[in-house]
Amino acid sequence: MLDIQTVRKDFPILTHTVYGKPLVYFDNAATTQKPRSVVEKISEGYYNVNANIHRGVHFLSQAATEAHEDARRTVQHFLHARSSHEIIFTRGTTEAINLVASCFSDEFLSAGDEIIISEMEHHSNIVPWQIQAAKKDIALRVIPIDEKGELCMESYRKLFSERTRLVSLTHVSNVLGTINPVEEIIRIAHSHNVPVMLDGAQAVPHTQVDVQALDVDFYVFSAHKVYGPTGIGVLYGKENRLDKLPPYQGGGEMIASVTFEKTVFNELPFKFEAGTPDYIGSTALAEALRYVKQLGLTAIAAHEQELLRYATERIQAAGQVHIFGRAAHKSSVLSFLLADIHPYDTGMLLDRLGIAVRTGHHCAQPLMKALGIEGTVRASFALYNTKEEIDIFIAGIEQVQTMFGKK
Ligand code: PMP
Repeated sequence: MLDIQTVRKDFPILTHTVYGKPLVYFDNAATTQKPRSVVEKISEGYYNVNANIHRGVHFLSQAATEAHEDARRTVQHFLHARSSHEIIFTRGTTEAINLVASCFSDEFLSAGDEIIISEMEHHSNIVPWQIQAAKKDIALRVIPIDEKGELCMESYRKLFSERTRLVSLTHVSNVLGTINPVEEIIRIAHSHNVPVMLDGAQAVPHTQVDVQALDVDFYVFSAHKVYGPTGIGVLYGKENRLDKLPPYQGGGEMIASVTFEKTVFNELPFKFEAGTPDYIGSTALAEALRYVKQLGLTAIAAHEQELLRYATERIQAAGQVHIFGRAAHKSSVLSFLLADIHPYDTGMLLDRLGIAVRTGHHCAQPLMKALGIEGTVRASFALYNTKEEIDIFIAGIEQVQTMFGKK
């Protein structure tokens, strides 16, 4: 069990007031707040261990290099990767997916090849593939969702063809909360000799991910959604998969030797890390993962599931509410519409009450189209949220309904 009141003390921003009301922060799927230890790690890094890494013989450079590589090992252990060489630091989920889309396409794709994605993908797992598709005439095959917001597994099975080259799916939907059956998804893909990339942006903060047990080929996530800093994220790839990909960007760090005639690329993971990496961000990410691990992902998930259950029950009781996403396995995301009230109106009125929710298409316009709506209101819960905050949120919902004459 988490001691939430103690946990909340680690997050100074949660004591803020907004328009004179206590802040209720329910926009965690967009980004999470940061514990003091993560923020301190950043300032401590700049104050005490700042020097460019990998190429310096001097003390500070070696200390900074050691901290950065230590952070890589922390990520490796967090994801249960076999080797730290399989952990590539990127700017975030988006850059990691772009890296794989670009490099995989360069090396392995030709006209007529097919990539399987799904109807519930974030734009960051659609657009990079479309960019490659436009260059090489590759086709996207899309798994539909059912009325509960779960992937139609029968359709998925039928999408495979001789030309399927990769399956690229979200682990957890940022709109519906659906936790996809990734073990089964991977098993089916591998039975066709097709590798799988999972977008773990919404999974890593809530569930224990074991890339070896999953046997997933590529796995990506962003630090800022798991209590870490912005501007850094991770691409995990099986060593033999990453080895076969060409570099993404050229520059310093990613080379073994350079002449005007020929460049020899560096080995993993550096081959994919051109330029000065965010070596302060990596240590802050590692600190965030330590923080989560110390609280325990099982305890975090149990707390968040209870918040989701309570919020779902209470919002349904408020009446005239349509919830989008009713998967059997769901993370702590509650997307909804109140009668015919526009989501922006609901969001803006809740904001005046100090409640931060997200409104709109959530970077998932194709999903909105499939649902036949323009957008939703999304409340997403994190480890520091409480039932008392949900009570404030429900009181806010009832106020919005009253204002619009829906009560
Ligand atoms: N995928 C999913 C499922 C997400 O929720 C997000 C963030 N909303 C992203 C990808 C993109 O993450 P980032 O903006 O940190 O690169």
